Amino acid sequence: MFDLIIIGGGPAGLTAGIYAARSKMNAVLLEKMVPGGNVSITSEVENYPGTPNVSGPELVINMEKQARDFGLDIKSEEVVSIEVGAGTKGHTVKTDSGEYVSKSVLIATGSNPRRLGCPGEEEHIGKGVSYCATCDGAFFREKEIVVAGGGDSAVEEALFLTKFASKVTIVHRRDRLRATRIIQEKAFKNSKIDFIWDSVIDSIEGTPTVKNVKIRNVKTSEVTDFKADGVFVFVGYIPGTEFVPGIISKNNEGYIITDIEMRTNIPGVFAAGDIISKKQRQIVTACGDAATAIKSIESYNEWYYEEDQYI
Ligand code: NAP
Repeated sequence: MFDLIIIGGGPAGLTAGIYAARSKMNAVLLEKMVPGGNVSITSEVENYPGTPNVSGPELVINMEKQARDFGLDIKSEEVVSIEVGAGTKGHTVKTDSGEYVSKSVLIATGSNPRRLGCPGEEEHIGKGVSYCATCDGAFFREKEIVVAGGGDSAVEEALFLTKFASKVTIVHRRDRLRATRIIQEKAFKNSKIDFIWDSVIDSIEGTPTVKNVKIRNVKTSEVTDFKADGVFVFVGYIPGTEFVPGIISKNNEGYIITDIEMRTNIPGVFAAGDIISKKQRQIVTACGDAATAIKSIESYNEWYYEEDQYI
């Protein structure tokens, strides 16, 4: 019986791991790929306190090291289900290679890039369509790139892509960006970045690699052909809750509902980071959620221990 199973190895999961291991909890972190989450595919992080202009991979590698140094056990396994246990039975977490029982479970699986869902997107993944500028940007030296989206990710990653591309065109469905002002200003000043407003990508074309996109103006419905060697998609994220049982409450968009102590509606099941229903999705808020969650988990496990003794 573990004290805590942490599911997900992004900033929330790793921070929970640091706090749990430092508190000498018997904890394990389960991550289906390598720890780091979406931050590991973020080119540069400017707003994590104390580490100005750190790269995403560097930041999460440090978090992972810090957690391991405190003794956290990190296993590379994909969670397939959680079976909620009654009373002091503990919750069972099943993975692709085994199962674990724990007093508490912290779900910190974050979110995955949303697809555009247009014709040509799926078949061009790895052939010009990408969701990761850090991973794929260097393949587009002196090429023309289209970026879909208008949020922080789209604009920050468009700026990063100007290091390689000859031209980056941001296609956004509205006439103003959602991104933070400081990031917008940098993009407006960058001579390699153009904008196509009020528009969406209708299809992605080219054999075998991307050569062209069809862009539709959502106000006039006019469709134009636009030359593109690559399409980078940053149109938000969808929560990674495939394995989360229906009994755990979620909002309309599928994000897990917690209280301010990061408790879900199921005793002993907690959630933190981008997976929860909230307004601010930042690395620093994910880490804050995780620290709060560990405090709640400690209290819950204390109760659990007392109940267990009584039974
Ligand atoms: P986001 O803020 O949800 O922005 C998604 C963008 O994609 C929006 O501009 C949205 O348009 C557009 N969009 C959504 N669905 C679309 C569709 N089907 N077709 C075309 N466009 C579509 O997502 P994000 O930029 O990935 O950021 C996610 C969270 O992480 C945010 O909370 C963000 O602040 C945070 N973040 C922070 C930083 C930072 O602080 N440095 C960096 C990256 C991300 P509308 O604007 O019209 O809705």
